Amino acid sequence: MKYIDVIVPLPLGGNFTYSVPDEWANAVRIGMRVVVPFGKKKMYTAIVSLIHTLKPELLYEMKEIICLLDNQPVLRYPQLKFWDWIGSYYLAYPGEVYQAAIPSGLKLESEMQICINPDFEAITILSDKEQRILDALSDGKPVNVAELNKSSEIQNVLPTLKILLEKGAIEVSEELTEKFHAKTDTFIRLSEQAKNDDNLRKIFEELSRARKQLDLLMMYIDLSKCLIPSKQKEITRKELLEKADASPAILNGLVERGVLITYKKEIGRLDLSDTETHTVYSLNAFQDKALLEIEKQLIEKSVVLLHGVTSSGKTEIYIHLINKVLAEGKQVLYLVPEIALTTQLTTRLKRIFGKRLGVYHSKFSDAERVEIWNNVLNDKSYDVIIGVRSSIFLPYRQLGLVIVDEEHESSYKQYDPAPRYHARNAAIVLASMHGAKTLLGTATPSIESYYNAITGKYGLVELHQRHEELQLPETVIVDIKEAYHKKCMQGHFSDVLLEKITKALNNNEQIILFQNRRGYAPYIECKGCAYVPKCKNCDVSLTVHKVFNTITCHYCGYTESIPTICPVCKTPNLNTKGFGTEKIEDEIHQIFPEVRVSRMDLDTTRSKKSYDKLISDFEQHKVDILIGTQMVTKGLDFDDVSLVGILNADNMLNFPDFRAHERAYQLMAQVSGRAGRKNKRGLVILQTSSPGHSIIGQVIRNDYVAMYKNEIEERRQFKYPPFYRLIQITIRHKDVQIVKKAAFALGNQLRAVFGTRVLGPIDPPVSRIQNLFLKQILLKIEYDASPAKAKDFLQQINNLILADHNFKSVKISVDVDPM
Ligand code: ADP
Ligand code: ZN
Repeated sequence: MKYIDVIVPLPLGGNFTYSVPDEWANAVRIGMRVVVPFGKKKMYTAIVSLIHTLKPELLYEMKEIICLLDNQPVLRYPQLKFWDWIGSYYLAYPGEVYQAAIPSGLKLESEMQICINPDFEAITILSDKEQRILDALSDGKPVNVAELNKSSEIQNVLPTLKILLEKGAIEVSEELTEKFHAKTDTFIRLSEQAKNDDNLRKIFEELSRARKQLDLLMMYIDLSKCLIPSKQKEITRKELLEKADASPAILNGLVERGVLITYKKEIGRLDLSDTETHTVYSLNAFQDKALLEIEKQLIEKSVVLLHGVTSSGKTEIYIHLINKVLAEGKQVLYLVPEIALTTQLTTRLKRIFGKRLGVYHSKFSDAERVEIWNNVLNDKSYDVIIGVRSSIFLPYRQLGLVIVDEEHESSYKQYDPAPRYHARNAAIVLASMHGAKTLLGTATPSIESYYNAITGKYGLVELHQRHEELQLPETVIVDIKEAYHKKCMQGHFSDVLLEKITKALNNNEQIILFQNRRGYAPYIECKGCAYVPKCKNCDVSLTVHKVFNTITCHYCGYTESIPTICPVCKTPNLNTKGFGTEKIEDEIHQIFPEVRVSRMDLDTTRSKKSYDKLISDFEQHKVDILIGTQMVTKGLDFDDVSLVGILNADNMLNFPDFRAHERAYQLMAQVSGRAGRKNKRGLVILQTSSPGHSIIGQVIRNDYVAMYKNEIEERRQFKYPPFYRLIQITIRHKDVQIVKKAAFALGNQLRAVFGTRVLGPIDPPVSRIQNLFLKQILLKIEYDASPAKAKDFLQQINNLILADHNFKSVKISVDVDPM
């Protein structure tokens, strides 16, 4: 008899063993999916993690698997090893890692909705069971597995469902709701014949009698740069007609003459399979040197940090390195912290790697993610993956290189749910499991990575010159306290900032305005009685969103409409306090009514399309001013931005966190880096009421090392990373007394083992979220202490607390290396 151990997608410890009926005994392999019964009635798609023949001693009755779903594994063995590491380092259950790793399209679950495919025509005769299921589905309504079991009177429909799915006779819910509809657009190009210089001259002569056609052609050549192969870009019909202010008839004239050609192409999903790939730019001397240095250091070190100022061409260096790794037949993972970055980079990398490039992130539909998963698994020609943090879980065949771009970004850390992994750190481990190397790149390294680099654990390569030796932008400080005092402020804009905005607009240059807060205002307050509306479920004030006329909780989503009178003192004296991106947008509209403005923050980027559109509109200069939160700071590359305004540096500097200064520096340095990237030195206006703050000075002088030296000393003194490892434990319960007692008990138990390494319990800054009260305990463990041992203790103590019947429904979550 064959037995398998499986991972079920549930937050549970322990192994689950099942027997495999003869039918599948020969076919089953590690990494395949099986459907298993679980508990009384549930079914799950589990992953086979071990196959054995010894009947294990079980405390429960052994059950058989319901069905084997695959003919070949959906996971490679190294992936399971990696899951193990994630689970043990970040203290998560295998089932939690599974949930994070596998796109839900690969999970058949009891809740899955099944529906008949109306276009299905059977080619072979259907079995009795197959026919019964199709009969049960014949009314076209989607049903779940349990219902189908009942209505078809078959005990277990899953094996048959699987066959029907393969035959295309049925569809499951994801495919139904998220079917991907390709969108196409019409583009224009020059005909082959017209590309020839002599012919083109003749065409110009001919057109001298058709002025409008000539103008349109000139406009096309100018926009598309089609005569300069390295700069050539695709132009849509719509864009051309708009820019040239021409009628479709004029364009048709040129098409009929055989000068221009129109073609349709899928947009959105970047399938540029028919565009030829371009050759890479050759590197400038500084980049060349950096590349050589990286390669040299990678021989000895498994990780190298590339510290290169913004716009120094780090991406170009990555591209050269990727090419070399691909030539060895290995795969490359290119991690970026934010979906917005995949948008720009994908276009850039598609031109070079064409169909070999895959993109992976959460804004893709499930069907698409499954497709990418399968491509990585099966298609050997698919060898560069660009993606956000979850792409570390794809089933790589043989990684040769991992690039972590903007390695300092905190969005690499997964907050909730478990596993709370850091994708940069996990990627380094993943790479080493493949015998691959990791390159970290950024203009503003995290303190931890820079420390690792200068102490020799990582290699370090620095690049101080921008491409074409552009100067870094000039930063001008505006003291807003003084400006308010002197009445030089209009809304949240100082006269200096307004003057520079006006100037940039007059020069037809673009502007980025950065305010690290979304919404209109963080809260409203009654002038009369000082009442502040708070969330019903959480211990926070409600953020004002004027666009929707609501006040909303950013923790749980609770929403009310903006009150017109104070609910307490009944006076109409409600004032908004503070300001977010919406308010900035509002003020800009009032001051510059003609200017084209868009806003990029969490509220305007809920869908993938909205990202792409915001970015491409700004790239194509359809927008003059882009207002945004930290989203606009991250590695975006725009040609015409000459001015960056930082509206208020103060709340970044005053944030109560040991990383606040590091982050403030990174945000300001990064957003400044967006200014003046091509042909002209940029300008940054930095508004603050603490112009003398050391971080502000370091930003002006672009002095990363000074910032690092300050911070590392503080970290050493106050026992923070990289000298100490932090483990944050959060205790949650709906009863404030119970959470208090549980946290206290846990704290005491921990103190008995860890002594003064235990801090707390304390109330976190937001001490109630979604009706649960929170307490936190922080563990600080010496970096060289055995983390495995500490975690073992921690696990035991947690279990001890949870075993106490008073604390049964208390939730304890553990965050290793919290950010
Ligand atoms: P970083 O990632 O360091 O901020 P990028 O790689 O985005 O810098 O480069 C900034 C800009 O300069 C990009 O538009 C890029 O195409 C251009 N660039 C950089 N290096 C070169 C090069 N060697 N040849 C041509 N263009 C380059
Ligand atoms: Zn709330």
